[in-house]
Amino acid sequence: MADTRCREEVRPTLIASAALVTVLGWYAVLCTVKPFAPCRRCVGRSEIAHFGKPRTCPRCRGHRPRLRLGPCVHDAWCHTQQ
Ligand SMILES: [Zn+2]
Repeated sequence: MADTRCREEVRPTLIASAALVTVLGWYAVLCTVKPFAPCRRCVGRSEIAHFGKPRTCPRCRGHRPRLRLGPCVHDAWCHTQQ
């Protein structure tokens, strides 16, 4: 009886851990294959409409692709280790 309850308590944690590892693994592969992603604000167009006028995207400053969060954090971590 106690054994069954213990298994029921462990299963959601195990599934959540497996899902977290899968998502982190997928993100690591994505960061390795494509470290740059299109800017989220201008969707890679480098310009946004501001009061009806085209304006250079303030987020990417017209550079279109931006470094993903993973490589950005990795770079920051490597610079703090020296
Ligand atoms: Zn942009």
